[in-house]
Amino acid sequence: MAVENRMDKIVALAKRRGFIFQSSEIYGGQNGFWDYGPLGVELKRNVRQAWWSDMITEHDEISTPPGAPTSFDMVGVETSIIMHPQVWKVSGHYDLFCDMMVDCRECKARFRQDHVPTSQCPLKPSKAPGEHDKCQLTAPREFNLMFKTTLGALGTEEDAAFLRPETAQGMFVNFKNICDSSRVKIPFGVAQIGKSFRNEITPRNFTFRSREFEQMEMEFFCHPSQSLAWYQYWRDRRYNWYITHGISKSNLILREHAKEELAHYSVGTADLEYAFPFLEAGSYGELEGVAHRGDFDLRSHSEGKLCKKDGELVVELGADGKPRHPGSGKDLSYFDDQARERYVPHVIEPAAGCDRATLAFLCEAYHEDQQPDEKGVMQERLVLKLHPRLAPIKVAVFPLIKKDGMPEKAAEIYRAFKRAGIAVQYDQQAAIGRRYRRMDEIGTPFCVTVDSETAVSDTVTIRDRDTLEQIRVPVKEIVDHVRGRMG
Ligand code: ATP
Repeated sequence: MAVENRMDKIVALAKRRGFIFQSSEIYGGQNGFWDYGPLGVELKRNVRQAWWSDMITEHDEISTPPGAPTSFDMVGVETSIIMHPQVWKVSGHYDLFCDMMVDCRECKARFRQDHVPTSQCPLKPSKAPGEHDKCQLTAPREFNLMFKTTLGALGTEEDAAFLRPETAQGMFVNFKNICDSSRVKIPFGVAQIGKSFRNEITPRNFTFRSREFEQMEMEFFCHPSQSLAWYQYWRDRRYNWYITHGISKSNLILREHAKEELAHYSVGTADLEYAFPFLEAGSYGELEGVAHRGDFDLRSHSEGKLCKKDGELVVELGADGKPRHPGSGKDLSYFDDQARERYVPHVIEPAAGCDRATLAFLCEAYHEDQQPDEKGVMQERLVLKLHPRLAPIKVAVFPLIKKDGMPEKAAEIYRAFKRAGIAVQYDQQAAIGRRYRRMDEIGTPFCVTVDSETAVSDTVTIRDRDTLEQIRVPVKEIVDHVRGRMG
């Protein structure tokens, strides 16, 4: 399948079956914003849930997980989208969170400078910006990606605030609160899932680059001497999370940044990159960054915005010799009462995008194949091979025909799934083959059919979406059977 063709088909399916819609579509849409429909909201919720379970609810704080240097605590937070403006000055976002952009005076389009070679000028025939005789590109200019808003009624510059461009700062500024209020001891992690906003110059590639998106970030605080081991641990663990949830190894790479690519505070960063279908073969797009951030963030929020001088991180001074962006002045060090040692913890940060992960799972799951129908005639089939844990609907229940007590029995089974909290759909419309295909298209891993045999042996058939294998299972065991196969 051609690169664009495959992506177009995924986008079309997402709209047709209610996964993802363009925001405000009836008004012509809003570029860079997306809405999740009835199935999309479930898929995304399951992605979020799979991450949160791995980080928090299923995390065993007593044992040491394989590959980890020691056992550790994990807690969650939910922090506000609008934070004190000083947070962004100290973090560097106010001064540095910029992309270079170029405008075209002729067609009024705007491009990110580093995207110009792969962008399209709105003039026809389509060419890259600058390639038409009429194009008049401006010199590159800096453009801050933070959305600005105003607090209160007066609306002066002093009331300016920003929508957060990342969730991470919420964890750093609460470091002391978390240490003081819970029993966590270093090493420990603080996780958060929430919306972030970036005024991307050229939002594109479906939900991949949006202006409003959701992040799943975790800040892991550890002793400086152990930070490299923890960095490697989290990098590998995050890679495996995607593989466990259905991404194939051939489509996912772990790319260590070269020294020149590292942010000024970073000791090491690795990107997890996925072979999205809108990219050319052999190209990958970032799904998640795992960064070793050293003590940059806690020190900045304590001392003031830092900069690098002679290889050292020091407080950046203004013309008056005072900190250019002062920190909180609060002590954000940690005291280890067993080792009797005080230090500023180092931080390892796995920062994932929930929308990008959802898109990657959707792309990975998309398959076209041919399967025989009831009469043995081969038919085209479109199937989403989503991991059962991510699938929006886990099981569908069908009465084979609309009589002989089958709908009543099927409704009983449907309600048993509902009571067990397993996402289920009931469908009695159309031939059984069509009903299977409707479920394949939205990734439902199991279909349960009540047929004439059910009244005799109190069993139903269960069909597997991927192998198409059908087996008979006693009605009283069907809920546990499905639960056992969710993986
Ligand atoms: P990119 O280089 O693609 O702009 P980034 O390196 O700026 O991404 P981070 O700041 O590391 O991204 O953010 C962590 C994660 O948040 C990314 O790996 C991605 O999954 C997600 N993310 C970042 N920007 C966007 C966006 N505009 N739309 C959707 N997801 C995003």
